[in-house]
Amino acid sequence: MPRVVLSIVLFVLASSACSRGASSSAPTAADAKAFLATVNETTLKLGIEANRAGWVQQTYITDDTEALAARTGQAANDAGARFAKEATKFDHVDVPPTERRELTVLKTALVVASPSDPKESDELSKIMARLESMYGKGKWCPEPSKPESCKTIDDVTRIMATSRNERELRAAWEGWHTIAPPMRKDYERFVELSNKGARELGFADTGAMWRAKYDMPPDAFTSELDRLWNQVRPLYVKLHAYTRLRLREKYGDVVPANGPIPAHLLGNIWAQEWTNVYPLVAPPNADPGFSLTDILKKRDMPPLDMVRTGERFYTSLGFAVLPKTFWERSLFVRPRDRDVVCHASAWDVDLESDLRIKMCIEQTADDFTTIHHELGHNFYQRAYKDLPVLFRDSANDGFHEAIGDTIALSVTPEYLVRIGLLDKAPDMSRDLGLLMTRALDKISFLPFGLLIDQWRWQVFSGEIAPASYNKAWWDLRLKYQGVAPPSARGEELFDPGAKYHVPDNTPYTRYFLADILQFQFHRALSQIAGCKLPLNRCSIYESAAAGQRLNAMLSMGLSRPWPEALDALTGTKQMDATAILDYFAPLSTWLDEQLKGKPVGW
Ligand SMILES: [Zn+2]
Repeated sequence: MPRVVLSIVLFVLASSACSRGASSSAPTAADAKAFLATVNETTLKLGIEANRAGWVQQTYITDDTEALAARTGQAANDAGARFAKEATKFDHVDVPPTERRELTVLKTALVVASPSDPKESDELSKIMARLESMYGKGKWCPEPSKPESCKTIDDVTRIMATSRNERELRAAWEGWHTIAPPMRKDYERFVELSNKGARELGFADTGAMWRAKYDMPPDAFTSELDRLWNQVRPLYVKLHAYTRLRLREKYGDVVPANGPIPAHLLGNIWAQEWTNVYPLVAPPNADPGFSLTDILKKRDMPPLDMVRTGERFYTSLGFAVLPKTFWERSLFVRPRDRDVVCHASAWDVDLESDLRIKMCIEQTADDFTTIHHELGHNFYQRAYKDLPVLFRDSANDGFHEAIGDTIALSVTPEYLVRIGLLDKAPDMSRDLGLLMTRALDKISFLPFGLLIDQWRWQVFSGEIAPASYNKAWWDLRLKYQGVAPPSARGEELFDPGAKYHVPDNTPYTRYFLADILQFQFHRALSQIAGCKLPLNRCSIYESAAAGQRLNAMLSMGLSRPWPEALDALTGTKQMDATAILDYFAPLSTWLDEQLKGKPVGW
């Protein structure tokens, strides 16, 4: 599943020019209350407008709908930026705890804070737009004199996924990275200007501002991430060693016996998910013996029935059925008469009960699982609808994605048997293939999910100076992922810029958190549901007890610090990556056997 934010948040929060509102007399608690009332009301109004325009734009793409969506999105962004700055006025005013939290949410909702100097703010906006456009228009042109030879990220993605020719993979890898060096100067200036804005809001730098969202001191949060990574690292190292072994059989000495894996051979341009090399690393006899895609096609199950099946998963947990408007307003199949954004997403258009999904459903196992995932967003959105507008979001930004994925983990063979799609669950000895596929997606992603922001936080804080942007990037990729570039990468290059989320300036830690949390949620809910099977075979389908605990957490939204929300579901305030080890235990044992006497680590 692509790592993008699929839920629609209240405001998208890029940057915009604005000045700090000056007030002559000292602000009071009554001023704060009035301010928050205005903020909640305005946010709701602008959020609904932006959602409506966004929905129409994505389901009916024309120049006009794009312009309307851009305008309403900008209005919501501008308001968000203005409110964040105004919230600092009340930093030293004594207000009730709920209002204090609303003010904090406002202040930490920004991804970029513009400096108050209008010239600098304008420069920052322009740089950000330029960086995004450099990535968006980025192409690798193997023969510059022939524009038709140019390759987009989609072309490069396809080559990385399907080619098994080392030279071709290397050319595509190096080719795609040529889009980034022109971003380097802009990125350096972007760091300076955005830091200036963050300091005006009282944060040490932009990275500290990002970490302030997580209800703990920035440094404590950093060490928390390290702790989680160290829990799961031994499993990653084994997966890495086994994959390296098999890649070496395929590609020979270009893959070292005991060093880092070349970054261009893992089936993905950023080596962030390795599912495409599954055919090279598949365990023998790992075929589960059935194909859900084949079953769906053979039964000719209509897309609407697939969605109804997904809904039934949630009603089996005790959640109410989806509103009538969900069925009237969602987009379930690709329309024949117009362009739409088919990328799956879940919407809460009026931030209350106008829930929808937008998908171009096909009869595949992937889409069947994705439906369960997207509905997870919808049920979360509905669970927190009665909270103040500012709290209508997940407990932290890792939670929303984690919920959808948690439910997707319950789409097990046993679940398929219970809903009548499969006659008999395959023997558990057949699980290795499914586990390996999932590990190549989830386990291989973890170090990548962590290092993007490790690099950025250090760039924002100045620990990584512009003169060593690229070296530091590769140091981190070696340290966490155990991968190395296929050729020397000097400081004339800017390899971080070849990853969308860097020029687009989207924080990335949420994806790491979502990967950790979904297994922790799944383990806790499976225990509550009384599942005695191995964790990878547990489904919480039809468990009212699990549903109740899930709802207890979902309905808290963002109103309490995330450790309390975590506690409501799992009974602990601490994130815990050991659920991943439990889930993948059969694979881990199998890897141990395969790696006897073989080099592990890099
Ligand atoms: Zn999602």
